[in-house]
Amino acid sequence: MADAKQAKLDEIKQKIIKAKVTPELAAGATQLVFGVGSPDADIVFIGEAPGKNEDLKGEPFIGAAGKFLDEMLEMIDLKRADIYITNIVKYRPPDNRDPSPDEKSAFMPYLESQLEVIQPKLVVTLGRHSLNCFLPDLQISQCHGQPKRYQGRVYLPLFHPAAALYNGAMRQTLVDDFALIPAIIEKIKLS
Ligand code: URA
Repeated sequence: MADAKQAKLDEIKQKIIKAKVTPELAAGATQLVFGVGSPDADIVFIGEAPGKNEDLKGEPFIGAAGKFLDEMLEMIDLKRADIYITNIVKYRPPDNRDPSPDEKSAFMPYLESQLEVIQPKLVVTLGRHSLNCFLPDLQISQCHGQPKRYQGRVYLPLFHPAAALYNGAMRQTLVDDFALIPAIIEKIKLS
């Protein structure tokens, strides 16, 4: 099962390269940062776009924000190998600027395909860019930590770990919201 799903994910990655999605971003990036983790994961975490470290290594969330994410995963007894992590935009934007609406839209069909293969029970959006790609009318400040059922999927909007890292109040809110994940998953499994 996991092997078949991994093969399908690899195909999606090749499609992005073949279709030359966002050629300007691709030209300035070291490599495509597609996603890592278990293709059978119950939870998929979705960030915004790779930063410098991610661009160099080809893996999402490996810088300071990634270390914070790892700490929060540990807090709920999960490891990276238990989950799947990806980003909306899969090439690093120059100078870490925000991805443009066109860049985000260009990657959405591929992200949707990733989710169709993995079929997670919960999609955790990290930050407002990720949230608004799926639920455009919601404000992260209003809905963080509250699971939202939409078109057959359950989303959990969370603050972005990079934004929360050096902001004491937001950091505590993110940690508190993260701690809700096991109970949310249990509830989904029972429903
Ligand atoms: N921020 C993101 O949104 N994604 C990464 O992969 C790293 C930092």
